[in-house]
Amino acid sequence: MKKLVSVCFALIISMFFQTAQAQKFDEYFETGVMRVDLVFSGTAEETSYALSGVKKEQFYSGPKSNMIDPFDYGDHKFVVKDSASGKTIFSHTYCTLFREWQTTEESQTIRRAYPHVIRFPWPIASVVVEIHDRNKQGAFQKSWSATLNPQSIFSDPGNPYHFETVELEINGTAEEKVDLLFLAEGYTAEEMDKFIEDAKRSAGYIFSEEPFKSKRSMFNIRAVKSTSQDSGTDIPGEAIWKNTVVNSSFYTFGIERYMTTMDYKSVCDVAASAHYDQIYILVNTDKYGGGGIYNHYSISAAGNEASRAVVIHEFGHAFGGLADEYYNSAVAYNDYFPLEVEPWNPNLTTLVDFDSKWKNMVSEGTPVPTPSEEAYKEIVGVYEGGGYVARGVYRPMIDCRMHTNDAAFCPVCSEALKKMIATITGL
Ligand SMILES: [Zn+2]
Repeated sequence: MKKLVSVCFALIISMFFQTAQAQKFDEYFETGVMRVDLVFSGTAEETSYALSGVKKEQFYSGPKSNMIDPFDYGDHKFVVKDSASGKTIFSHTYCTLFREWQTTEESQTIRRAYPHVIRFPWPIASVVVEIHDRNKQGAFQKSWSATLNPQSIFSDPGNPYHFETVELEINGTAEEKVDLLFLAEGYTAEEMDKFIEDAKRSAGYIFSEEPFKSKRSMFNIRAVKSTSQDSGTDIPGEAIWKNTVVNSSFYTFGIERYMTTMDYKSVCDVAASAHYDQIYILVNTDKYGGGGIYNHYSISAAGNEASRAVVIHEFGHAFGGLADEYYNSAVAYNDYFPLEVEPWNPNLTTLVDFDSKWKNMVSEGTPVPTPSEEAYKEIVGVYEGGGYVARGVYRPMIDCRMHTNDAAFCPVCSEALKKMIATITGL
């Protein structure tokens, strides 16, 4: 009886908690999305933001509870506060390609500008929006803020595109599932059947691997038939230039295999066609390459023979905030992970604050650092080399999907991905 009483009590508490959380959404937000477009410019040493427009989009897909981002991930965080009370009512962490560019040689000598977009549920009353950037010491620092009024006549409700969205797999409502949205890039109108087949196959790659395999029912999968004028994508090293809907290109920062798009505004314009928590840009090319930027987008070649490995790896970056655990391939970055700062990514450590990482998954008796020897092959430890450097940055396993890309996700990466699924689905 005692047990029954305590179960009921727990039920009442949880019902009360859910009601309180649900009321909170309705207290501050209504249907729709406030999309804030900015221009983000600077050099290696400084950045600045300028507002370029406010839009009203249709599809909010995140949870209606847990609207404060529990992860201290990313290079950026935006915070939405109710103007009247000053209370934080929404926050979200993410990365951008611009921030990666700021670690390249070019950013030492040239000033560049990239589009920057943030989105949150449409507020009922005036809100203060703040963008915080992570500083060199690893802490978030406020870089921009503005008071935005949802009643403003300048909130544009128009969507520049009217592309058809195909529902590939729906397992529940947008707010209780992770909504994965494939965008067609470099597919002409005649190639849309091919795109849908490519999107199905790419989704199949992600859900062929744990932890996604057993959590498939926590996802919805859709595909936007976004048509391009030309077929393919830009390959500047071969003087190939194509007119495509989100302006993707190989040779980002001079690295041939690094295919991205700097045109995040067009990415968001296309994605506004449907619900999404994660954008996957599928590029109509056989050439090896791609990229994944945390809570920004994943992008990869649809037709390369290594596509399965690339799709899963890039999705690990974009969805889980996972860092590259390798250190032996050419990248354009300098000092990407400063050794005196604990990286924010869940799968790397500089041992500055290892307590905040996977220390509880390292069994007693495992030496720290852990030698890269056969005896420790399947053991979670602290192995030197990762984050593009051989010394001073440590990874959790000898091999992992984020290391050689031949293995499955290591237990630390897998745990981080599961936590992210639970948060987005509100569980
Ligand atoms: Zn890993």
